Amino acid sequence: MDGQAQRPSRSGATELLRDLIQAASPNPPGDERAAAAVIRGYLAGIPGIEIEDAGVHPARPMIVARLRGRREGPALLLNGHMDTVPAGGRWTRDPFGAEIADGRMYGRGASDMKSGLAGLVVAFARLSEMRDELAGTIELHAVPDEEPGGHLGTEALLRAGRIAGDFAVVAEPTGLSVFRAQKGNVFADITVTGRSAHGSMPSHGLNAVSLAARLVTDLEDRLGARLAERTHPLVGPRTLNVGTIAGGTATNVVPDRCVLGVDRRVLPGESPQEALAELAAFVGDRGAVAATHLGAPFETAEDHPLVVAAQAAVASVMGVPRPCGGLVGSSDARFYADGAGIPTILLGPGSMDQAHIADESVPLDEVEASVPVFIDLARRLLARR
Ligand SMILES: [Zn+2]
Repeated sequence: MDGQAQRPSRSGATELLRDLIQAASPNPPGDERAAAAVIRGYLAGIPGIEIEDAGVHPARPMIVARLRGRREGPALLLNGHMDTVPAGGRWTRDPFGAEIADGRMYGRGASDMKSGLAGLVVAFARLSEMRDELAGTIELHAVPDEEPGGHLGTEALLRAGRIAGDFAVVAEPTGLSVFRAQKGNVFADITVTGRSAHGSMPSHGLNAVSLAARLVTDLEDRLGARLAERTHPLVGPRTLNVGTIAGGTATNVVPDRCVLGVDRRVLPGESPQEALAELAAFVGDRGAVAATHLGAPFETAEDHPLVVAAQAAVASVMGVPRPCGGLVGSSDARFYADGAGIPTILLGPGSMDQAHIADESVPLDEVEASVPVFIDLARRLLARR
């Protein structure tokens, strides 16, 4: 299973990425057993590495692997998700073929985020050879079920009280820049209620679809414009999107009910609960607002030792310093940052622009470079004192 002796790439991360892409794990339906077997096989038998399965469902393994330095010290947590979105249509290459062309590897999960996972796993294995130099613990979390929100993966780990540490790195695709902030989100349904009547006598009823349509326009024109006035230097403006509308039962009936699905993105410094309350206040008696999902934002300070060490590791490996960035979308990082209160960054090879698209790919030089970046970062944080 290991075969490191024959690996032509510098670190072995390219071959591990190939194996992970070929171990398809689209979610839905959600089954990470093949991908987990690849990681277990890679780490099996390496001295000093303890592996356990913390999964909460038979088809959804969750690898927690631990490496202890020779001395006591802080705990560094490394997270990567094993699932991907489904392949979808319009590919010109095999989505699970891991083809290489022009220095890039193609396949579902190439950027989001089997490349980051491969980089973490290879770095973790290498760090086991450096245990004498390390003070503290490194814990690798290879998790299922991130794409729909982490319920059977990192969230389950958090609920089980098993996320504890001093630093967390989530290897989502950041192009090997340090992302130290992430937006949060509020998903809410707004139910607009009218009064039904025969479609031939609309004046006898109150049309919920018409009321909802006016509400959509008002949400965009007034609330959306007000939200856009505040922006964050790393993740941009607050936004609001009406993603769904459902109302009416038949063409010849005045509809008495219409439901809007609204997506409000939250900046670091705001709370999802406040954003929800603000939305409800704006809607007022025009509809009933009910949250369907709340995700907290986070920001880790620029001068925090985790950010400083990560910036130094990137500059050292890539040869030039890079500015910090932030994630506009969402990821499991919130369970470490907000859920467990651990200073957290996102850092990994690949690009979010590649995530979820047809012909998803990743530059292999970035995949290879991620290994020394992760190793360098761990050594800076767990330097023996
Ligand atoms: Zn991802």
